[in-house]
Amino acid sequence: MIKYCPTCNRSSEEARFIGEFCEFCVADKIKATLPKVIKLRRCRVCGAIRDSDGFTDYSIEAMTDAVSHELHIPNCKIRIKELDLQMRKAVLRMVCELNDGTVGFDYEIGLRFTKEMCPSCYRKSAGYYEAILQLRGSEKNVAKFLDSFNLFLVKGNAFVSKTEEMGKGIDMYISDKKLVSGYFMLHKSLKPKVSYKLYGLKKGKKLYRHIYSLTV
Ligand SMILES: [Zn+2]
Ligand SMILES: [Zn+2]
Repeated sequence: MIKYCPTCNRSSEEARFIGEFCEFCVADKIKATLPKVIKLRRCRVCGAIRDSDGFTDYSIEAMTDAVSHELHIPNCKIRIKELDLQMRKAVLRMVCELNDGTVGFDYEIGLRFTKEMCPSCYRKSAGYYEAILQLRGSEKNVAKFLDSFNLFLVKGNAFVSKTEEMGKGIDMYISDKKLVSGYFMLHKSLKPKVSYKLYGLKKGKKLYRHIYSLTV
């Protein structure tokens, strides 16, 4: 028997039906509940996107996760089909599971971004550091050490907030003392002198900076 959509009068020969209504009207009904514009959290310095894992390096996956989280319609799968960051808009492909069937449609949405800083950029900008590495040695040995050490810091998501040229090497101010001590645990042949300097209290706990003196 031919069905007619009560909203648009399309027949079941012209359109697929989901329950009483044609798929176009079902899609329209869902679209009507969606916002025209959403605001996403983005770091204004490094472009990281706040998704369900916290601030994450910009990627289409992070964007998709953030958009899905913002729209919060658990029965719909969302894919970003087109993304225009200059015009600040996206076309989303949405596939929604309803009681009477599945409906898929495209939805254009405006994007706005916050102008905040992610925690890592914030600490960088504030000159945050937990460890100082006083590195000394010949130019060649210092360069060789830094190749390996800097890579280790990047992999561990640490950063160098300041570098000072000294007579026979450099002083590096590093964000993460655990990572620095981890590096020296892995490279036991390097035996830096370590000292500790109290720099503050956090919830009654003393905070120490680690100072490593290393000659390579
Ligand atoms: Zn209809
Ligand atoms: Zn950032």
